[in-house]
Amino acid sequence: MTTTPAGDVFAYAPAPESRAIVDIKASYGLFVGGEFVDGGGTSFKTINPATEEVLAEVAEATDADVDAAVKAARKAYDKVWGPMPGRERAKYLYRIARIIQERGRELAVLESIDNGKPIREARDVDVPTVAAHFFYYAGWADKLEYAGHGTTPLGVAGQVIPWNFPLLMLAWKIAPALACGNTVVLKPAETTPLTALLFAEICQQADLPAGVVNIVTGAGATGQALVSHPGVDKVAFTGSTDVGKAIARSVAGTDKKVTLELGGKAANIVFDDAPLDQAVEGIVNGIFFNQGHVCCAGSRLLVQESVADELLAKLKRRMSTLRVGDPLDKNTDIGAINSAEQLARIRELSDIGEAEVGTGEGAGRWSPACDLPSTGFWFPPTLFTGVSQAHRIAREEIFGPVLSVLTFRTPSEAVEKANNTPYGLSAGVWTDKGSLILHMANALRAGVVWANTFNKFDPTSPFGGYKESGYGREGGKHGLEAYLK
Ligand code: NAD
Repeated sequence: MTTTPAGDVFAYAPAPESRAIVDIKASYGLFVGGEFVDGGGTSFKTINPATEEVLAEVAEATDADVDAAVKAARKAYDKVWGPMPGRERAKYLYRIARIIQERGRELAVLESIDNGKPIREARDVDVPTVAAHFFYYAGWADKLEYAGHGTTPLGVAGQVIPWNFPLLMLAWKIAPALACGNTVVLKPAETTPLTALLFAEICQQADLPAGVVNIVTGAGATGQALVSHPGVDKVAFTGSTDVGKAIARSVAGTDKKVTLELGGKAANIVFDDAPLDQAVEGIVNGIFFNQGHVCCAGSRLLVQESVADELLAKLKRRMSTLRVGDPLDKNTDIGAINSAEQLARIRELSDIGEAEVGTGEGAGRWSPACDLPSTGFWFPPTLFTGVSQAHRIAREEIFGPVLSVLTFRTPSEAVEKANNTPYGLSAGVWTDKGSLILHMANALRAGVVWANTFNKFDPTSPFGGYKESGYGREGGKHGLEAYLK
């Protein structure tokens, strides 16, 4: 049931996407040297976070498995992919991009099942952006001399990615690496390995030479074995700041090239002249897209004091219309939290936040009325008002559908508060004044600043962080630099 802002109550007819299009196997091996092979270790289960159903058993790669994958990548680099002219490499990348489009529905449904994200987002955002990345970097493969970063590949790239955008992070890593002539060993996150394994099938379908892409599944130990392997020339990591720091320490003193895309705590800043209804849409997109499992999520709303009451009233009304539930239902706005561990972390920080801000007048924790399913991992869209800079919910990455609201009076106070964080990945600015946008874009210490929009991604645009959000850029011409000598 949903209550409209006017008070009308009505029920949506469910509109479930069929899962019949995906063929999930009972067990999966590793993808090494162009073939699926058994791992030498144990296996782990990947589950559907919306139902807790076990989807498949997946091989946990051992050090020896990682070694075999790196060797397969090295052989492919030396014998086939490194010497291949860019225009030939491009053909494979275009082919992969087209197969991703052709199998888009299958990829979207599988991503939604393994990750918990709404099918609407997997279908309309993740998969089209994945294909766009392969198309974009296919275009660069024979034009590297015009990008200004040299034309010599590094060799074998070891790539480790998180669970929030499993396929999209894979594309951000693999497409530029291959375009530049590198081969890769990629480790997906342990809770979301299935679309990377389907991508391995796509590599076979595209006749990609054996060993150019290798996929090793497993948890942190497998990732550690990969990034510390002496046969890896380039480490590309996306994930938490703590693990990023550990990886930086482990590769220090080697000649491996490293890029780190880490956590964030973005400020979404609304000035009093902003179009408030539009800003509300941007705030909702900024923090509730993908359940807030977004490194650049606008998790701190900074609103100018004079419009705070009006904006919050509009925001609460809009949040009341968000539909939380079955990720495969096309009506769903907010799907499942990816794992029990992530849900526990969101709960813990939210409970701390509730105790910190208290429940005094104008301050506290608020969620719209919403029925959460009884199985699976769920958290309602939540906002905290009366938050101050010192509160943990204003400082730490919650990585869930939780928004902290702070207020400011002047642009300089907004800049000071926005920059008062160890992170610096992204920010949003909402105002009618172009000069204020330019001022804020220069003053904010963030890799990406969106103006009157939020969470807009395009393969032509570089993305990356300042401070503890990491270093290096992915996307655009800048993204080539990380994979060339
Ligand atoms: P995580 O750091 O726990 O795990 C990320 C990946 O690293 C997983 O594949 C994991 O198995 C692996 N890993 C764990 N320990 C390792 C080790 N010691 N050595 C090598 N690999 C190891 O992060 P997560 O919880 O999966 O993802 C959420 C985090 O990712 C958030 O902090 C989020 O902000 C960040 N993230 C950043 C970006 C970005 O572009 N900056 C994008 C998406 C997510």
